[in-house]
Amino acid sequence: MNNTKDKLSIYVHIPFCERKCLYCDFVSYSGMEDKVEAYFDALMYEARFYSTDDPISSVYIGGGTPSCVDSSYIEKLMECLGENFTLEKDCEISIESNPNSLTAEKAKAYFRSGINRISMGVQSVSDDILSRIGRLHTHADTERAVDSIIAAGFDNFNLDLMFSLPGQTLRDFSDALDFATLSGAKHISCYSLTLEEDTPINQLYKDGIYHEDDELDRQMYAMANETLFSRGFYRYEISNFARMGYECRHNLLCWDFQDYLGLGVAAHSFFGDTRFVNTASVDDYIKHVYEHTHDQVVMEESPEELRGDYLMLALRKTTGINTEDFMARFGEDFNEKYRDITEGFIEDGLLFRNGPYVALTEKGFDFANVVMREYI
Ligand code: SF4
Repeated sequence: MNNTKDKLSIYVHIPFCERKCLYCDFVSYSGMEDKVEAYFDALMYEARFYSTDDPISSVYIGGGTPSCVDSSYIEKLMECLGENFTLEKDCEISIESNPNSLTAEKAKAYFRSGINRISMGVQSVSDDILSRIGRLHTHADTERAVDSIIAAGFDNFNLDLMFSLPGQTLRDFSDALDFATLSGAKHISCYSLTLEEDTPINQLYKDGIYHEDDELDRQMYAMANETLFSRGFYRYEISNFARMGYECRHNLLCWDFQDYLGLGVAAHSFFGDTRFVNTASVDDYIKHVYEHTHDQVVMEESPEELRGDYLMLALRKTTGINTEDFMARFGEDFNEKYRDITEGFIEDGLLFRNGPYVALTEKGFDFANVVMREYI
């Protein structure tokens, strides 16, 4: 593979949450307050180990719930990253948060430490729905937290919303979109509830307590797209909408197949054609990261796998697959290699060409998984 990678970003995983939400299958744990200090020590050791002069375009502190730990840990982490990496002058530095734990003091501390973007998991503005999916916060918490974000000086913040939630009506979702678009957020993510195996909410659906409704799901997605577009947010990826110039750089770098370094439990890294992922165990990480004997899976991808990953990520973006970039990276002509598949989807109205790009149509977004499967 030719290397057209020229950007490096960092992802830091904070695996702690106050309580597990009913739909969550992320690597996050509750009841580990006594391990926070040792975890941050291990995390900063790992950051120092990977110290580099290569310029860093974005840092993303995700989780879990980074806002549930004392802000002094985040401040120390930021100091450590600043000392061990060359953050570009306009480096985007994001942190994830939840409304019940993001206090005014924490928002101010984040801003002081150099973080310039907050992403907050709002999900819904209905207290009934929030409690049905096991969230700890109420809408009053969300309102308070948004005020704190703005008062701390953040111009750039994202709100995450969810749709297809149990008992959620079009009206409920429309209320959430109203709140988000009027909040001052520059970026809004809208995710449909995914029923993951082994989550309590999946069991509730299996038991017939709740029922899936694909038609309502598509109606809600269409509503998000239309409402957000009419209010100045454009969709740049299946689930992500932003005011022009406020697209999440961290996301874009991942979808553009750039290298990234993952620090912390379960963090993924991607360099050249190699991916590696850290242990999902907090204990293993804390004990063994210092000797590099923690469980770490290294996966060298075949050219075929890399092409599949590249195409899947590119199709998520509204700009789609850049066939010239594909040629530069893989030395192959996309149009020749995938002629039959591409022409078939164009005929079905699921893909279209735009200069050197091949992208999903509006109808194609509803069948994105079907299209992606064919290219993998
Ligand atoms: S706050 Fe986020 S990471 Fe934590 S349990 Fe809920 S969904 Fe999972």
